[in-house]
Amino acid sequence: MPDKKLRIGWFSFTCCEDSTIVLTEMLNDHYEEWSKKIDFRHIRVLKKNNSMENLDVAFVEGAIASDKDAEELKKIRANCRKLVAIGSCAIVGMPAAQRNEFDAARKKEIEFLLKKFKQARKVRTLYEIVKVDDKVAGCPMFEKSFLEVLDKCFREFGVK
Ligand code: SF4
Repeated sequence: MPDKKLRIGWFSFTCCEDSTIVLTEMLNDHYEEWSKKIDFRHIRVLKKNNSMENLDVAFVEGAIASDKDAEELKKIRANCRKLVAIGSCAIVGMPAAQRNEFDAARKKEIEFLLKKFKQARKVRTLYEIVKVDDKVAGCPMFEKSFLEVLDKCFREFGVK
């Protein structure tokens, strides 16, 4: 029987997606090992056909800026056993959530944009919407911390 692989999904919400860039750069060093141990079920930057069903781990970067994205995040949560917040925007909202700090006049100024693009009044962290099991800090994420969390996932899900 083939060895079990870790079924992962990688998702990006409102942000600059630099942690995605860090991940793809890490493939230069880790592709050999990861291709044997990871089943990339959902990762738009690498493949066209994606599925978020029945994931072991969902890695999520970015803050949540609309109700539509909040619903999408809930869907991801319902389809994974473990959810990991990636980077500062996902964990504390900033810097993606800068508009939360605008003064009243500036908030009024951007109101038409919120309406036009169906954005929520407040940009939220992942923690404000779903249960988050683990996190990788940094802006973008620290490679070393990501590798530590990934190793933890391999152990938890019995991937050798
Ligand atoms: S945490 Fe930093 S690097 Fe990551 S998406 Fe936000 S701004 Fe970009």
